[in-house]
Amino acid sequence: MGQFEAQLRWIERQAAKMLSSIEGWCAINSGSQNRAGIERFSAEVVEAFSVLDAETRRVALPAFGSVDDQGEPVHFETADALVLRKRPDAPRQVLLAIHLDTVYPVTSSFQSVTRIDDGTLGGPGVADAKGGLALLRTALAAFERSDASEHLGWTVILNPDEEIGSPCSMGLLAEAAACADFGLVFEPCLPDGSMISRRKGSGNFAIVVRGRAAHVGRAFAEGRSAIHALAEIIDEVAGWNARFPGVIANTGVIRGGDALNVVPDFALARVNLRVEDRNQQQEASRRLAELTDRVARARSVEVEVSGDFLSPPKPLDRSTEALMSELEATGKDVGVGIGWRESGGVCDGNKLAAAGLPNIDTMGPRGGEIHSEREYLCLDSLVPRTQLCAALLYRYASGDFDVRGADGARSEARVR
Ligand SMILES: [Zn+2]
Repeated sequence: MGQFEAQLRWIERQAAKMLSSIEGWCAINSGSQNRAGIERFSAEVVEAFSVLDAETRRVALPAFGSVDDQGEPVHFETADALVLRKRPDAPRQVLLAIHLDTVYPVTSSFQSVTRIDDGTLGGPGVADAKGGLALLRTALAAFERSDASEHLGWTVILNPDEEIGSPCSMGLLAEAAACADFGLVFEPCLPDGSMISRRKGSGNFAIVVRGRAAHVGRAFAEGRSAIHALAEIIDEVAGWNARFPGVIANTGVIRGGDALNVVPDFALARVNLRVEDRNQQQEASRRLAELTDRVARARSVEVEVSGDFLSPPKPLDRSTEALMSELEATGKDVGVGIGWRESGGVCDGNKLAAAGLPNIDTMGPRGGEIHSEREYLCLDSLVPRTQLCAALLYRYASGDFDVRGADGARSEARVR
């Protein structure tokens, strides 16, 4: 790290600045549904990242179609994504990504940042992922101060919809993935400092059943109960948890029915399926289609399934493993021990992997209790994790390692 030593020391002096950025950013609500809040936050971010002197674009994202609780089609529109590019013609390219949104709606009571103790900051998004955003900006600023920077170009994607599965930004992520050698995503690492190696895949499905209404007392036999049909589907899907090791099937929402004396003609369920690998994903999709067809025929109801595995499984392939060992080596240089764990959770790392880009997706600071009102950030992790990221970029820019071509087929796809 000889030549880069001065930048690592510079990062140490940025701790207070990172903290005040995070405090300011977390005071702005940017819940996934709060478009105005995300736009306000996004303007702050553009300003904060302007020191990097990168080409900065706001990119409008396509709307995402789904169904509402009455089974009617709805379109979700989100704020623009931010895309920052530096040296797009450099021989080596990395993709850096993190989200602007949080899980906390504008109506949540969790809106302010508090100092839990000397080393811990509490607040909405402190770890997931505004801490990661501050870390990314500082790491890039340090990297840009080094002379190796001219050999490496980078693209930063900041999306507004990750916490609802990146339905609008997935295309943008896939497009950017095609132009990079590897990716880094700045989700927080786990409370004990572990990072995530492989991840399950996740799919969300809406199952809408339409039957025939009838008077319960006068014409029960003429009715076709949407609720009974849906119950049969839900019950069988629940059984997959025991039948197929590795599969998680959760029905999180059910709706339907109006009155006790009416056979219900409408019912809806929202089901989340998680799978280990691509085979299991295909098998789960096939089983769901087969099950809903069978119930529709047996009960003379209509069943419509919408949704998909928007986050395919993130496997451990050779290029990802190569990148992980380079990160471990970098950790040794800067004094950050790296441990790995698997996760059933998904993030944009899944989408980048599905687009063929090896990536590490827990490059952010240490924190915990995310997605709850107890979310916290460990302040002592900010400087070392920023150094880790900056040093990895420096090593890659200096030609210390290469992950291109670790998977034979991928290297050709990378030639631009
Ligand atoms: Zn996150």
